[in-house]
Amino acid sequence: MLLTPGPTPIHPKAMRALMRGMLGHMDPEVFALNREIQQDLRVMYGTEPEAFTALLAGTGSLGMEAGFANLVEAGDEVLVCANGSFGRRMAEMAARYGARVRLVTAPLGEAINPADVAAHLDGVNMVAVVHGETSTGVLNPVPEIAELVRGSGALLTVDAVTTAGMEPFHMQDWGVDYAYTGAQKCLSAPPGLAPIAVSERAFARFAARRSPTPLWYCDLEGLRDYWVDHTYHHTVPVNLHFAFHAALRAALDEGLERRQRRVRAMGQVIERTLAPLGFSHYVRRPEDRLPTVLALRLPEGFDDAGVRKALREREISVTGGLGPTAGVIWRLGLMGESARPAPYRALMVALQDLLGEPGLVRRYEEALGALMPEETQPALA
Ligand SMILES: *Cc1c(COP(=O)(O)O)cnc(C)c1O
Repeated sequence: MLLTPGPTPIHPKAMRALMRGMLGHMDPEVFALNREIQQDLRVMYGTEPEAFTALLAGTGSLGMEAGFANLVEAGDEVLVCANGSFGRRMAEMAARYGARVRLVTAPLGEAINPADVAAHLDGVNMVAVVHGETSTGVLNPVPEIAELVRGSGALLTVDAVTTAGMEPFHMQDWGVDYAYTGAQKCLSAPPGLAPIAVSERAFARFAARRSPTPLWYCDLEGLRDYWVDHTYHHTVPVNLHFAFHAALRAALDEGLERRQRRVRAMGQVIERTLAPLGFSHYVRRPEDRLPTVLALRLPEGFDDAGVRKALREREISVTGGLGPTAGVIWRLGLMGESARPAPYRALMVALQDLLGEPGLVRRYEEALGALMPEETQPALA
């Protein structure tokens, strides 16, 4: 039972699609499937009607790297919002592609302050920000940052790994130029694909490069050859495309607003169930909390390593903190299929037993009944 901030349990429809027989990457049926994926990605990201979308054959980090590789040249000024480990990963990648990196930081467990971005925008070619910082459970104010960037002429790159597909994402309205996620996070598809979206403005910047991107595999022109012109660039992992298509369709059929409500309700149910044991929100300001990664401060004297080991023996995976938050917090994943009553019921049953807390499961059921009546009805029927 995966209750981690990624990977998430694979959606049953994606699992079935994965079993389909192999087709060639140049098969007309695969091109038709790819066209549907591209159109569904435009909806998921909220792009311009004709925006370029595609799947990269790699994980979310490849989506991150492709953005810097294609849109940054040596000597460019790149402002990176870094309030956690994925923001720092962005800064490291930008530097490897020759950028002069300006860091805007925030105290651990707090969101980036847009005023700090505004203060360092002068002469910047690109601003890069992680929407939901998985390492701390913090949601950064992307719409506010985007509004500042819009007037500056800089491109805006957004890591949407913990948000796109679970929350409405408005690439066009906000003015985002490059966004990416990973298949195994909010969409509950198998890992190995990075869905990207690229604005017209970003393509124009790419076209004006002084030298080709050093990353041949993810060259935007090469990707366009395959995804738009249907000529060979590299062999795409067709079986992963089948599964991804099914998972993304399931997400859009459920509806992004409904998924957004589901993840918030699950977070409240868990918080309400565990609060009497002494668990509390790690992120202090409610507006800074990332709904898809619930960061809970552990009760005083809680045996973090011991309890998580005992949970693992019952095949339940829970993630602790990283670096300074190790032993201090749990990060409970609520992306995609993990934000359902059943996986967390398994956790509550195990905790009731391990901690000797009678009533924990009953409290969970009551909270579910109060906050998620639509999700609990099928189980009662
Ligand atoms: C998981 C994650 C990534 C990296 O994705 P991988 O699939 O592990 O390469 C990047 N950014 C954020 C915010 C993530 O949570």
